[in-house]
Amino acid sequence: MPDRTGHLTGQSGSPVPPGKGAGQTRFPPMRLTVIGTGYLGLTHAVCLAELGHEVIGLDVDADKVALARDGAVPFFEWGLEPLLRKNLDAGRLQFTTSFAEAAEFGDVHFLCVGTPQTVSGSADLRYVFAAADALAPRLRRPSLVVGKSTVPVGTARSLAARIRERAPAGGEAALAWNPEFLREGFAVEDSLSPGRLVFGVTAEQSARLLRQVYAKLLANGTPALVMDLETAELVKVAANAFLATKISFINAMAEICEKAGADVVRLADALARDERIGKHFLTPGLGFGGGCLPKDIRAFQCAARELGVESVVRLLGEVDAVNLGRRSRVTELARAAAGGTLSGRRIAVLGLAFKPGSDDVRDSPSLHVCGQLLREGAQVAAHDPVAMRNAARIQPDLRYADSVSEAAANADAVLHLTEWAEYRLIDPAVLAAVVAHRRIIDARCALDEAAWRSAGWSFRVPGRGDCLLLDRQLRTAPPRGRAVSSPVRGVGCGASVTP
Ligand code: NAD
Repeated sequence: MPDRTGHLTGQSGSPVPPGKGAGQTRFPPMRLTVIGTGYLGLTHAVCLAELGHEVIGLDVDADKVALARDGAVPFFEWGLEPLLRKNLDAGRLQFTTSFAEAAEFGDVHFLCVGTPQTVSGSADLRYVFAAADALAPRLRRPSLVVGKSTVPVGTARSLAARIRERAPAGGEAALAWNPEFLREGFAVEDSLSPGRLVFGVTAEQSARLLRQVYAKLLANGTPALVMDLETAELVKVAANAFLATKISFINAMAEICEKAGADVVRLADALARDERIGKHFLTPGLGFGGGCLPKDIRAFQCAARELGVESVVRLLGEVDAVNLGRRSRVTELARAAAGGTLSGRRIAVLGLAFKPGSDDVRDSPSLHVCGQLLREGAQVAAHDPVAMRNAARIQPDLRYADSVSEAAANADAVLHLTEWAEYRLIDPAVLAAVVAHRRIIDARCALDEAAWRSAGWSFRVPGRGDCLLLDRQLRTAPPRGRAVSSPVRGVGCGASVTP
């Protein structure tokens, strides 16, 4: 198991002594390439080298390649940079912009290029095809190209034919699909200790090669699930669709709770204790964002539409709509907290990354809310531990603050939009001294409500009624048999915020 720095513990990376004869190793290093060294590809290249392989990472972006050669990671990811440096120093890892060099070097080539969203919502496959087209004519010996990017079902099979046609090695240039499930913020840990490996193949030889690549992980008990190309492609998008659906489900329940005067936090807690449901991805709040989930469910919708499966189109359309709706709801709560208008109001925003542990602001729910606040005339001061530089490129009109207190100075309301652990450590009494009004909206259900309230803050969570009031009323409940009017109706989140 890797620790938080990503190092394999109990397995130093040196080959395990042979079972059969002297000079043999159980995990012989292979020569691998990783094409596209963004979030996924750089992590993958580093982790393959950490597993003992010789690896070349290739990117068309010469600046990224130069940074990687210098041992620098251009994004925030726990434990990745030390592992990059370690494997550069060990001579197992190199970087290039040359497809000729990569094709000459590698026996297995991983495709990790981006598949962003097109205007219509479908996956933009031009980078996948460009990378395959640049590589295939240089494949002169038996080789395996392995797709890891997230693609619509059917892409792999057409790519396999295209590579076969263009490669001098012809049918000896095979294609497999090995989708990636890593989470940003835990990318190293997830790569070195994945829950499962999925191998989409058309021939047993491809599965054999993939088992060799991941031999150490398999020896550690990671299951490898071998299947056809189409199922492997679908496993990835179905996993993301399920996670997105779970988040939007609890956020749809938050909408109901707001109307009914109920408490979605207590509801989620009660649901999570049912082991068939589980607690993960069941936290209500501002919903999901980032470079994967939103684009993947939209691309899945487009693929389902092409296949004529309208039920999936409708389901994912609702998941997306509920998710986006939470952003507007938080803006509404901010408007109410600021006294009915955002025009000229000073709003402090805590958290800009799409989730804690990452500096990724692609489709960040927080930045989306910031845009809405600005459009309504608010003056927004924002803080994030690591994502401010990325956020400033997308949203230059925010005021970026070096500390929470600086962001909150003279604020009419504070919005907690990304649940960094350090925000849970804020002393509400200390922050109370710098704001103009003690009003906070905890859009991630992560702060200690009682502590904030006892420091005199008006505290709101979307989808949550006034729980402390509820608690007080339950404690002073009349004896059994007497009618009790609903204690929370009228003070639920549907009601406007009391300043
Ligand atoms: P990214 O934008 O960070 O990286 C893509 C990289 O590909 C860039 O560095 C780009 O320069 C490079 N590239 C583009 N065209 C190229 C070409 N023709 N040849 C070589 N390199 C090329 O994207 P990402 O977040 O790493 O995502 C890559 C894929 O992995 C996507 O399909 C994504 O959905 C999937 N994925 C991402 C994650 C994640 O957490 N980021 C997790 C699982 C799956």
